[in-house]
Amino acid sequence: MDEQQHILLDPDVLQYINHSCAPNVYFDTDNLTIVTLRAIQKGEELMFFYPSTEWSMAQGFRCVCGNQNCLQYIKGAEFLSHSILRRYRLANHIMRKISL
Ligand SMILES: [Zn+2]
Repeated sequence: MDEQQHILLDPDVLQYINHSCAPNVYFDTDNLTIVTLRAIQKGEELMFFYPSTEWSMAQGFRCVCGNQNCLQYIKGAEFLSHSILRRYRLANHIMRKISL
């Protein structure tokens, strides 16, 4: 929810949603809901853009989402340019840290 407060996801299976550079869901941290970003087919994996809620991750990772616009390495919004961040829906606490 911000740099100091984190959400405990409920149901806890939500903690296993993987990152994608082409996400199909967004975590709305203001309303505590998950919002679909496009039509999702039955059986399709739910994926969200980790930097949409994470400013600076304790541990980054090499992304293997396979999207043609994959950002390759994910470590949080702090490490991405504004032109990249503008492509994504971002949580308000991330939006407040940048001026898009
Ligand atoms: Zn990727």
